[in-house]
Amino acid sequence: MNNTVKTGAAIGSYLQDTWSNGAGKTAVINPVTLETVATVGGRGLDLEAAVAYARDHGRRSLAALSFAQRAALLRTMADTLQAHRDQFALQARLNSGNTEGDVMFDIDGGIAVLKYYASVGKRLGDGKRFAEADTQPLDKDGHWVARHVLSSVPGIAVHINAFNFPSWGLWEKVAPALLAGVPCIAKPATAAAWVSEQMVRALSDADVLPSGSLSLLCGPARDLLDQLDAGDTVAFTGSAETAATLRSHPAVLHRGVRFNAEADSLNAAVLGPDVTPESDTYALFRREIVREMTTKAGQKCTAIRRILVPAKHLDAIGADLVQALSKTAVGDPATEGVRMGPLQSPAQRQAATEGLSGLRAECEVLCGGDTPEKLHGADVKPDCFLAPTLLRCTDPDRASLVHEQEVFGPVATLMPYADLAQAGGLLARGKGSLVSSLYSDDTQVFSALLDSSAGWHGRLLCVDSKLGKAHGGHGVVMPQCVHGGPGRAGGGQELGGLRGLLPYLQRTAIQGQAKRVAELTEHDAVWPGV
Ligand code: NAP
Repeated sequence: MNNTVKTGAAIGSYLQDTWSNGAGKTAVINPVTLETVATVGGRGLDLEAAVAYARDHGRRSLAALSFAQRAALLRTMADTLQAHRDQFALQARLNSGNTEGDVMFDIDGGIAVLKYYASVGKRLGDGKRFAEADTQPLDKDGHWVARHVLSSVPGIAVHINAFNFPSWGLWEKVAPALLAGVPCIAKPATAAAWVSEQMVRALSDADVLPSGSLSLLCGPARDLLDQLDAGDTVAFTGSAETAATLRSHPAVLHRGVRFNAEADSLNAAVLGPDVTPESDTYALFRREIVREMTTKAGQKCTAIRRILVPAKHLDAIGADLVQALSKTAVGDPATEGVRMGPLQSPAQRQAATEGLSGLRAECEVLCGGDTPEKLHGADVKPDCFLAPTLLRCTDPDRASLVHEQEVFGPVATLMPYADLAQAGGLLARGKGSLVSSLYSDDTQVFSALLDSSAGWHGRLLCVDSKLGKAHGGHGVVMPQCVHGGPGRAGGGQELGGLRGLLPYLQRTAIQGQAKRVAELTEHDAVWPGV
């Protein structure tokens, strides 16, 4: 790994194809040592001019490219970032306390999304627009017809991201937008902006970005949404509270700006009633619980927060999970053997502590709940660390907070269920989740949970002993599948192959004489009907 990155510099913003720092000096820290790794300014930047530039130059340069050319651009971006991968990995460790496993999620995951959309886009060929496969007759003899086309929305995309995925969060939004022909202004969360900035800097240094196609705003978003108008899109990832503020912004309420939100989620894992603690399927379940609670120190929107097990196994599984979690070495990810790092900042640690104290009113603490007894590594400050924390709630029907309050850290609650009807009811108490994973070897168990719960979820991972470990994991978002959940999870949807382009496309029915409509749409890529 390249271990020579320079710390202490100012994180810049890339607006109008130019780097500038703006005023202010907010410290961005290393959560392991609390040392400042960089500073963020961002105040006083001309956001009105930045939006106008993206709208004008960005749209023009992307409109000149076909799908295949935009796909080639994504591939070049991916290859450029890949060449600096180890530098970004080190920066992710220094700015977010990432372990190598965390880096695979965020840095490698982000580059993988760019590669995925590059390969999807290459197959779309030289068109710049989609047309649906079917032409609909509108009169008796089929002389007058309609065909639906999907073209780039006429505005720009603003992407506001959470602190936990400064790479993946950036590229999973940018890739489909650029492929659709829509210029982006991305705004990373301030606490973790360093990696996002360094990635965009690598692209601008390599001069691979068409003029105005990608801008980056580091620091406070201030009046960014005030600049938006009909035709623009906002894709937000973060807390439900900020989502609610942005959703009620006049640009969204009164000016027709499209708004997509990915927010909090009380994701679950359900162990089927057919599974015994001695079985292979249980081992898969345990592996996933431990991985989900400790990867990114539990700071994943998809992390398992509620663990539902048959009531008769509650005690045995509680003891077993405590034993498994206690083996997690916590500390400085630079130290050999460390499997879990810190939370992003003292403020995030404080928020997790406050959330935990709410849950304690309904639960007992089986393990963790505080700073780990042993922190591995020299110069480790305890301020951002929280031990893997397993809670137990014995009456989940009567409890409320365990189904409502997301503690954004290595925290999950074990709870019993008596039968599948109760398990389905408990899943629904999350009021909309990104993902739940189900562990069983019985189709009827999966089927019952799917019937009761699919409508509450964006994704359901069904694990049986035959699938074994041959899946990416409960928390891994595959670009082929939709990401997003109903209700509390924000109600938005991203990715899902070409579906990920939909927020950036307008569907228009082209009506006319059959031959004319065929001529007008003959060079369009065929929309696969998703
Ligand atoms: P957050 O506090 O809501 O911030 C998210 C982003 O919004 C940051 O970039 C923040 O910028 C920005 N922001 C805050 N106020 C704003 C305003 N008035 N106008 C414009 N932008 C504004 O969330 P977070 O603490 O970064 O992330 C943690 C939360 O995100 C968790 O609840 C987690 O569940 C959720 N999350 C969801 C997903 C998903 O896909 N569903 C993925 C990851 C995380 P500053 O940093 O500059 O304040």
